Amino acid sequence: MAQLGYDDTPFLPGGKWRVHDSTRPQPRIITPGTASTQDQAGAPPSDAVVLFGGKDLSGWLSVKDKGPAKWKVEHGYAEVVPGTGDIESKEHFGDCQLHLEFACPSVVKGDSQGRGNSGVFLLGRYEIQVLDGYQNPTYADGITASIYGQYPPLVNACRAPGQWQTYDAVFIAPRFEGSKLISPSSLTLFHNGVVVHHHQDTLGPTGHRSLSNYDEPHPSTGPLKLQDHGDLVRYRNIWYRPFSNQA
Ligand code: MG
Repeated sequence: MAQLGYDDTPFLPGGKWRVHDSTRPQPRIITPGTASTQDQAGAPPSDAVVLFGGKDLSGWLSVKDKGPAKWKVEHGYAEVVPGTGDIESKEHFGDCQLHLEFACPSVVKGDSQGRGNSGVFLLGRYEIQVLDGYQNPTYADGITASIYGQYPPLVNACRAPGQWQTYDAVFIAPRFEGSKLISPSSLTLFHNGVVVHHHQDTLGPTGHRSLSNYDEPHPSTGPLKLQDHGDLVRYRNIWYRPFSNQA
């Protein structure tokens, strides 16, 4: 058997492991997921926490009254029931890899922010905009995949209304010490496989017609919230993996 590594090579920064160190622990083995198609959601990676797998919303609450989520579930997706309000995951989490898929209504109605609007809020506070942004002009920091009210996506990678689209995010929660911000939240996001934010620090929890800030400290974990903006937006295949940049 070939030698697995070396014990006479230089130490890496930190002084713990040598270059090609034979005693360095191996990465954990997982089974990767499979890609989705328009007809069917793919399988999540084996170590993912599934928030919505297509069958029911038992992992979700209505934000309004913390009772059961009242959105409609059929054919493997959950659809906004206008007026029932935002829903949030029972799971609370922070730094993560997040995957979800959404589809805006195939019957086009309204324009600008009034067409296929919803939203994905990390920690319940940081909105990645969901909108039918296909040939639908609106303000740039409110288009699909924007960090709402702060940063437009690098490109508009929208698919046509009715098509399933994907968000794959790496989100780092902010850190506070007392009332002092130590590090802001940051987001890397792929929309339909295309990078649209690259380690983008945010200005604070997102808001409408207001300037975000970090004046109010908050926990570094929270629920995933999905927005009822009155449009029949659908979601499927929602999962996350707690993320750490140290193996
Ligand atoms: Mg929205």
